[in-house]
Amino acid sequence: MNVSGLSSDQLKLQARARELAAGPVTKRAAEVDRTEQYPWDNVDLLKDAKLIGMTIPEQYGGQGKGWLDAVLAIEALSAACAVTGRIAVETNMGAISAVMAYGSEEQKKMAAAMVLAGDKPAICITEPEAGSDANGMTTRADKKGNRYVVNGRKHWITGGGVSRLHLIFAKVFDEKGNEEGIGGFLAIRDETVGLKITKREPTMGLRGIPEAVIDFEEMELPPSALVIPPRGLKKGFADLMTAYNSQRVGAATVALGIAQGAYQLALDWSEERHQFGRPINEFQGLQWKLADMSIKLSAAQALVYNAARSGEGGFPDMLLAAQAKVFTSENAIQVVNDALQFFGARGYSRELPLERMARDVRMFTIGGGTAEVLRTVVAGALLKKKLPQTRDGWSKS
Ligand SMILES: Cc1cc2nc3c(=O)[nH]c(=O)nc-3n(C[C@H](O)[C@H](O)[C@H](O)COP(=O)(O)OP(=O)(O)OC[C@H]3O[C@@H](n4cnc5c(N)ncnc54)[C@H](O)[C@@H]3O)c2cc1C
Repeated sequence: MNVSGLSSDQLKLQARARELAAGPVTKRAAEVDRTEQYPWDNVDLLKDAKLIGMTIPEQYGGQGKGWLDAVLAIEALSAACAVTGRIAVETNMGAISAVMAYGSEEQKKMAAAMVLAGDKPAICITEPEAGSDANGMTTRADKKGNRYVVNGRKHWITGGGVSRLHLIFAKVFDEKGNEEGIGGFLAIRDETVGLKITKREPTMGLRGIPEAVIDFEEMELPPSALVIPPRGLKKGFADLMTAYNSQRVGAATVALGIAQGAYQLALDWSEERHQFGRPINEFQGLQWKLADMSIKLSAAQALVYNAARSGEGGFPDMLLAAQAKVFTSENAIQVVNDALQFFGARGYSRELPLERMARDVRMFTIGGGTAEVLRTVVAGALLKKKLPQTRDGWSKS
């Protein structure tokens, strides 16, 4: 251990990710944004650097690393390219961790092999009429003989069109049409008939990863595709949300990384840029801005690392993950905005990365649970009440 509280292995991993970020990932970031093409070359780099699937247990081909290890890599990569940071999130957290926690041996082997080969799984929850209120989803899986037939529409699905493995949430109905609750199924694009990518959303930022509308039309799945059984009304979905705390920490980490990247650019520029015969960092107005930015970043980093550490051996604590995501996503937007201001007109130009960072970072108070809904999660934990207005607002009674 050292003063940062990181082990020597973690420091090595962080150094590896930083080197990759500073080199090839930084070089490609603007082009990935401009062309809106998924960076498959960066996926290969992540694979070679063993930063993909590192949280997968060793028995399934991964490295059995903890959430903090993943966070260190995601943080470093996101400072250079948020899209690449998100790929590191979704190949280490979220859907893959849900499958590794709840799946059968067969499901775990399949999902691990796909991710380790470079597939970024997609997680399909949100629907046009069921966003924050995910329990209101209308996608349904009807049991018919020895199969489920899935019909419905999801939107804003990250990776739609590039991801192969999909973890899809639907209301499950038995043969008699009785609702059993929400369950999670695995399907594979281009193999599972009836899974159709029907539209790409034109997004503000994070343009290198497609956000898509996905339709399920009479999509037939065997019972072996069910990863998270409904287990009574809403309980299956609560299982997903437990696993999803890892993804929330991951999303907070991307926001943190983007803001750290922008802050560093502003810090360097503040020495380089001269006005009134001196570096602009000699003006107290900017010194205090830098101080405030660094305070926000240190606080956010502490929350994110703490939330990640809380999940060792399981999943991150829901309260800590929600606190980390709300604080980090909101403060990262402010830090990036302030960093852009340091550059004056240059900051507003597409020739510098600041405007891309400002677009990219804006997403994190929305995706993966909005800041408002996560505040309700925090309040529920403080009040020790299950509040219905959260994505996992199930009740045992
Ligand atoms: C870039 C991006 C990637 C995404 N990726 C995925 C993905 O891979 N898979 C997936 O399933 N979904 C994904 N989403 C969808 C995301 O999870 C939803 O956008 C989010 O849960 C909010 O749902 P909504 O957009 O329908 O907003 P709404 O639920 O309609 O909310 C609108 C506004 O009302 C507020 N609000 C709603 N309920 C309450 C309440 N009870 N109290 C206070 N305020 C409230 C919200 O905070 C928000 O400000 C993604 C979204 C984005 C932007």
